[in-house]
Amino acid sequence: MVAGGAMETLADRLAVIEARIEAACRRAGRARESVTLIGVSKTFPVEAVREALAAGIRVLGENRVQEAAEKIAQLGHSEPGCRPEWHLIGHLQSNKARWAVELFDRIHSIDSVKLAEKVDAACQETGKRMPVFIEINLGGEASKAGVPEDEAPALCHRVSELEHLELCGLMTVPPFLDDPEDVRPFFRRLSRLRDHLLALGVVGPAFRDLSMGMSHDFETAIEEGATFVRVGTALFGSRG
Ligand SMILES: *Cc1c(COP(=O)(O)O)cnc(C)c1O
Repeated sequence: MVAGGAMETLADRLAVIEARIEAACRRAGRARESVTLIGVSKTFPVEAVREALAAGIRVLGENRVQEAAEKIAQLGHSEPGCRPEWHLIGHLQSNKARWAVELFDRIHSIDSVKLAEKVDAACQETGKRMPVFIEINLGGEASKAGVPEDEAPALCHRVSELEHLELCGLMTVPPFLDDPEDVRPFFRRLSRLRDHLLALGVVGPAFRDLSMGMSHDFETAIEEGATFVRVGTALFGSRG
């Protein structure tokens, strides 16, 4: 391990993140395989994505369809068997649903019936089945996407009826708070909401994932049950 930021490579940073994920899993009595690390490559160039793939990252997260399209086109399919998964983690406008369906393997940001229906229709046209998350706005922040908790049952029920979508769980971007301990209650609420929706019977058995936790709080998220953590700056460096 190299001391000091300047000489540190992406592979070094990945090794540190990996060790922290493993330790968090151990603390929580969970298997390492129960957590998927998403490398959030938004704003970073395709060279950084190549470096991440070489270091062993297999799932990439982008928050804009256009930016992902450019990177996927530049990467091509030059490494058979090594094609990464691409996850859309940012807000999706319904007029880009078709494009998103063509590019992505999972969508974390379904937040309305209208959007879900657009994605479902695009899946039907392209012969795809799309795993999706419902995004929940737990902090009630107007600046953030997602539905409030009390709208989750109706939206989840409707989405689980759509034939070409596989409703796999809930996603959230909690308020940014310096101390990850202050974020813990939000992660816990998302986990409880998942359990509540399962108990209500408005979702199917595939509904179990929690997409939560970013660079500064992914360990806390894992302790509270995250199955997908979305890590950008801790892996790729500062977005400047
Ligand atoms: C940018 C982003 C992340 C990654 O954030 P970092 O703090 O860089 O790890 C995670 N999730 C979403 C939805 C994002 O937009």
